[in-house]
Parts: sequence; C-alpha cells; structure tokens
Amino acid sequence: MNPFMYYNPTKLLFGKGQLDNLAREISRFGNRVLLVYGGGSIKRNGLYDKIIHMLKHANIEWFELAGVEPNPRVTTVRKGAEICKKEKVDFVLAVGGGSVIDCTKAIVVAAKTDEDVWNIISRQTRATDGLPYGSVVTIAGTGAEMSLSSVISDWEKQDKRAWVSSFSRAKFAIVAPTYMTSVPYKQTVNGIVDAMSHVLEHYFNLATNVPIQDQFCESVLRTIIEVAPKLLNDLENYEYRETIAYASTIALSDQLNMGFIGDWGTHHIDHALSAVHDIPHGGGMAILFPHWMRYVLDVENVLKFKQLAINVFQIDSNGKTDIEIANEGIDTLAQHWASWGAPIKLRDYQITDKTLPLIAEKTIETQPKCGNFKRLTKEDVLAILKSSL
Ligand code: NAP
Ligand code: FE
Repeated sequence: MNPFMYYNPTKLLFGKGQLDNLAREISRFGNRVLLVYGGGSIKRNGLYDKIIHMLKHANIEWFELAGVEPNPRVTTVRKGAEICKKEKVDFVLAVGGGSVIDCTKAIVVAAKTDEDVWNIISRQTRATDGLPYGSVVTIAGTGAEMSLSSVISDWEKQDKRAWVSSFSRAKFAIVAPTYMTSVPYKQTVNGIVDAMSHVLEHYFNLATNVPIQDQFCESVLRTIIEVAPKLLNDLENYEYRETIAYASTIALSDQLNMGFIGDWGTHHIDHALSAVHDIPHGGGMAILFPHWMRYVLDVENVLKFKQLAINVFQIDSNGKTDIEIANEGIDTLAQHWASWGAPIKLRDYQITDKTLPLIAEKTIETQPKCGNFKRLTKEDVLAILKSSL
C-alpha cells in the first residue's frame, strides 16, 4: 500500500437517541444558525418540528434555506450564502441527504468570501475560509456526512462538479436511521446502489498488498447484498435501515481506502450524465457501473474481478476460466441491482444516443484524468455510454 495520513475529525453520532445531542453540539460553535433542508420530507416525518423545538429550547436563533434540490444548484448555494452574510450566521446545519449536505459544504465557503463561489467549485481558486457546519443525515447512500467532497451543478452551463476544500469537513454528523424509515422505495434503492458503488470504486485500485482493505470492502458489499432485499421488503424496519446507514457512512469515511485511491471514473461519467439530464445519482451509477466493469475487464486486471466474483458473489469457480468467473460476478451484481428495481439502461430515463458525445466531452473536460484503475479517454467514455443505452 502507499504511505498515508488518516485525518477525519468529523464527530459521528450514530443511531437512536443521538439527535437529542444536537443543540449541545451546535452550541459549541455558535447560536445563530442557518438551517438548510430539501423539499419538505423533514416536515412530513416530524424531524423539522423536533429540531425546531430543540433550537428554541437552547435559545439558538435560526434562519432557513428550504428547497435544496436533488443535484443541488449553485444558485441555491448563493442564496444560502447571502442569508449567512445578512444575518451574521455563525453555524450552518444541514438536515437531509447528500444534496443538502453538499449544498451546505458550498454555502459555508461562499459565506466567507466576496468572490463567486463557482470559481471555487470549478477549482479556479481555493477557499480560504469557511463557517463551521454539521449535519443530520436523513437518507443513506452518499456518505457525504463523513466525506470531503461536494457535488454542485450549474444548470445553465450544464456543468456538475465534484470539488473539495479544507472547510468541507463537518464538525459533527448525526446519522438518524429512525428518520430514514420514511425514505420511499426508489430513493432507498438509489442510496443502496450509491453506497455499493463507493465501495466498488475503492475496491478497483492499483495498490498492492491491501488485503485488509480488500476484505473490509468485501464484507461491506456482502452485508449490503444480504440486507438490502430485506429492507426493500420492509422499509420501516429500523435494524435494516441502521445497517444500510452504517454501511453507507463507512463507505465514504476514508476508512476503506487507506493507502490508495480507488478508480472513480464511473462517478465522473455520472456527474457529466446528470449535468446534462438531471437524473438521480444512484440511478446513474446502477446503469453505468456494470458497463464500466465489462469495458475495462481484461487479462491484466482479471484477478481483481475474479476475487470480487468469488469473495462477494460466491461464484463457483470450478472448471471456468478467470474471465468467465469475472463476467459471472459482474452479471450477478447487475442482476441484484435489477431485481431491486434499479434502472438498467439509459433509456429507462428516456436518454437516447443524441447527447452521449456531449456527455463524453464533458466528462473529460471536467476530469481530464478520468479513472485510476483504468484511465479512460473520451472515446472510452463514449463506448461505455453507448453500451449503457
Ligand atoms: P438527496 O438528493 O439528498 O435526496 C433524494 C430525495 O430523498 C429527495 O427528494 C428528498 O426529499 C428525499 N428524502 C431524503 N430524506 C428523506 C426521508 N427521511 N424521508 C423521505 N424522503 C427523504 O439524495 P442523496 O442520494 O442523498 O444525494 C444525492 C446527491 O449527492 C447527488 O447530487 C450526488 O451527486 C451527491 N453525492 C455526493 C457525495 C459526496 O461525497 N458528497 C457522494 C455521492 C453522491 P426532500 O428534498 O423533500 O428532503
Ligand atoms: Fe456516489
């Protein structure tokens, strides 16, 4: 493995009852709070009322930015930053999923600068300051609560960027599976696929001597495959929600990838895809990942695919070539996702071949070094997209 430094200072408060610590955690940083949330699910499941009650009780003054869209927009980030400046907010609280948390990661740096935040998101300049923030996570999948990265779209430019800053680490993350029982079926599937795809992105790396990391990844994948169908048959089951939430948090907490960087090419393709078509991230990953696997599989890297097939999907290797075993593993992954109701082809989102060259172009434009396990050219990306049609 490569030498590495592990530093993830986000305080994780996970599980039943942890929400009760919210006001205490906020008070360590301030008492004028911007509450950021999405389209209203937190009002429907009672979480909003509970949080407001706690803020009032702790004499914390709050302002609100509601309506953060799935695939959050830079225009919404700018609105949030304006409120922070006008109201002299000293702490930002994200309550929601990856979209709300990512939007918050951008708001906290936008609130501390006079330049346009898109310059930072598009990596023309660096963030130099940021407000502290924390999150209450209401949907499992992205792992954004423990990650550095944030993904923001400029819809007018059809541009979606993943970016990081040293101010992107939350002061705390409260993962609340109790409030995840209201996540609808489709969004539950998208989250599960996204969490699995993060583990798979780690798994496909070029490092040598990473047996512990490999087995961490394999055990997380095996557990998700076992629990996901149970959860999908019983969406209000707390224990299944808890297991999937823990899997998704750990998948992007940097604990599974110590000593190497995974591939991430498929994520880059999906960002360009959803910049053009505004589809859910988990849905895009479900379509693209098996096709990326089939495209990059070759005799030189077959052993990693074979290991995945045997250790995660329990493929019987008797009398089969390595390539056959590898392909069976990929097919099994795709079958699991399809059987859970994930989309399987771009046409499921009414996407035709018309926009594929533009998506390939945007992928390489925003990420010239696309993929680490296998570096992809624009032509490679286009071929993967065409096979996903
Ligand atoms: P999301 O976009 O945050 O939310 C999806 C939907 O789920 C929304 O309609 C939301 O409704 C609903 N929802 C959330 N919690 C709910 C609950 N408890 N009950 C009922 N409905 C609920 O979904 P996400 O998959 O977590 O985030 C996707 C975004 O994260 C994408 O932009 C993706 O690119 C990004 N991402 C970021 C990272 C990272 O490391 N930062 C990693 C992967 C993906 P409301 O809006 O009404 O709340
Ligand atoms: Fe993701």
